[in-house]
Amino acid sequence: MSNLMTSERAGLFLICFFLSTASIAKEARYPEFGNGRIEQELVEAKEYMVSSANPYATEAGMRILEKGGSAIDAAIAVQMVLNLVEPESSGIGGGAFSLYWDNKNKKLSSYDGREKAPMAADGKLFQENGKNMNWWEALAGGRSVGVPGVVAMMEKIHKQHGKLPWADLFEGAIKLSEEGFEISPKLATSIANKTNPALGRYEKSWEYFFPKGKPIKAGVSKKNPELAMTFRRIALLGAKGFYKGQVALDIVAAVQSAADNPGLLTAQDMAMYEAIERPPVCAKYKAYKICGMGPPTSGGMAVIQILKLLEGKSLENYQPLSVEAVHLFTQAAKLAYADRGKYMADADFVKVPVEGLIDEAYLKQRSKLISLEKDMGKAIAGTPPNADQNWKTSTSPEQPSTTHFSIVDKEGNGFSMTSSIEMAFGSTLMVRGFLLNNQLTDFSFSEEKDGEKIANRVQAGKRPRSSMSPFMVFDKDENLVMLIGSPGGSRIINYVAKTLLGVLDWKMDIQAAISLPHFVNRNGNTDLEQNTRVSKLRKALEVKGHEVSVRDLNSGLHGIVITKAGLEGGADPRRVGRVLGK
Ligand code: GLU
Repeated sequence: MSNLMTSERAGLFLICFFLSTASIAKEARYPEFGNGRIEQELVEAKEYMVSSANPYATEAGMRILEKGGSAIDAAIAVQMVLNLVEPESSGIGGGAFSLYWDNKNKKLSSYDGREKAPMAADGKLFQENGKNMNWWEALAGGRSVGVPGVVAMMEKIHKQHGKLPWADLFEGAIKLSEEGFEISPKLATSIANKTNPALGRYEKSWEYFFPKGKPIKAGVSKKNPELAMTFRRIALLGAKGFYKGQVALDIVAAVQSAADNPGLLTAQDMAMYEAIERPPVCAKYKAYKICGMGPPTSGGMAVIQILKLLEGKSLENYQPLSVEAVHLFTQAAKLAYADRGKYMADADFVKVPVEGLIDEAYLKQRSKLISLEKDMGKAIAGTPPNADQNWKTSTSPEQPSTTHFSIVDKEGNGFSMTSSIEMAFGSTLMVRGFLLNNQLTDFSFSEEKDGEKIANRVQAGKRPRSSMSPFMVFDKDENLVMLIGSPGGSRIINYVAKTLLGVLDWKMDIQAAISLPHFVNRNGNTDLEQNTRVSKLRKALEVKGHEVSVRDLNSGLHGIVITKAGLEGGADPRRVGRVLGK
């Protein structure tokens, strides 16, 4: 394994990070983003750890943990700083899913802070003149903005598991917003490349990201006093400082007055929003218990499906980048995505056979469809126990932005959160220093197919299906042993499943598992990560019948493994993140 990783790194710029909790020298904050990759080293620690997509955010979380804060306390600090320094990916204008492990009471909770459709929305939201809108046009402006869920979710968890006062957790982000932070290479690249073509269409985001008409550059110091004011208000008033009063009214005004593409969000939608604690979805996998988030994300169920479909295939006997391993993985992924497309949506609105989809016997039967020799072509959804057959398959073209972070505190509590404003820069509408999501484009634009309703259609007050997959793994004695998650649109499921296999089956350390070149299938082409060893499998996979595309695969995996000796953390070389621990 170490040979594999060493050769993988050979052509890439290798940077070793200092692993101490000492603050990071300014010039070393983003060491190198050449080739869109920063090589990362495994970080080890004894007591506590944060792994996130940005060094500022990781440092903010560490400061809270140093003060004796719990994992959720640190998470709030991390999320608020991410809103500032990685605004393209997540923030208070977006939504999230998270898992919290209460180590003393050995209790796992999962929380849904997903955006909600306005009460005035219906299945025609993304249709014009009877036709589905162009996805890129639908996304920009107010139409795609769902009621943001991050603030409500974090407040809910803080009330249950927080140790430090709520207001203290905003201090780091407020200070940085007022004093300035260094623009990361990732943010600068996303602005310059117009990752979201609508960025700059509306005045506020134009002024913020294109000062004097030019895209802001990496390394430039940037302040965001408006965001600092918003944070102060939420710090003082709690979530109601966001969902009621002037901030909420400004959000509603921005959504409704986006002249070219107004939305339906109202002050009442804002005031009515609630984050929901839901049962996690768990399954036994070999010697472990793996747990993720249930509907409205498809992530938990689909990742569990992939692992369970492979459980009897002796994956541990193949090298992770062998043709056999990659082929088997893609076949399991195809089956999981077929079920995802048909059955997975917001279970508060449509019947989702959650238990059936991860049922041991069902998956054992379904795994017989996997051949070691030949690609299965397009997989068809199965018939899990208690399935409602009336749904039609749909896809929704989620695009990559989003962020994931993992935290373990001194008491062994864990927090794994994936947070998103959907597309990079979301709807591109900016209010009071933060961007509003375009999460409603995760719904199916069509309401029905062949006269049958689509499970993930738009409905008033519904939450769009997600792929976000915060995960935790437990050993047979119910000890937390791993936390992981990733951005990456609907590819998230592949990234997380593969990283779990890397650690659990291929016995890689968490950093090696995260850095392992990607292979992905969403029930179509097999995607292989460009400029990595896995792309050399193209021919061999084509011989088996795969349609292969070699491309950039931009995950953002941030994970922690807990061993008898302590904590091990990994950060994704494809982003600019950092692990720190003590
Ligand atoms: N909107 C996507 C989801 O909820 C996430 C987008 C991304 O990862 O970039 O699944």
